Amino acid sequence: MPNGKPAGVRCIQLTDDNRCAIFGRPERPSVCSSLRAEPMMCGTGRMHALAWLAQLETATASR
Ligand code: SF4
Repeated sequence: MPNGKPAGVRCIQLTDDNRCAIFGRPERPSVCSSLRAEPMMCGTGRMHALAWLAQLETATASR
């Protein structure tokens, strides 16, 4: 995604089982490799994390 990943658009590197296809490889965007998950992001499980991500997508969506 040479122009970046717009909010609300699925990353083309995301596999069908929701894993990063280029994890650990140099071409992985620095914004991805520098992200450090924190307890407030992950919460108590998957539903909390997905809600957090949805909030970020909304906050960064083009208007
Ligand atoms: S870590 Fe980055 S490159 Fe990998 S799937 Fe997620 S957004 Fe895409």
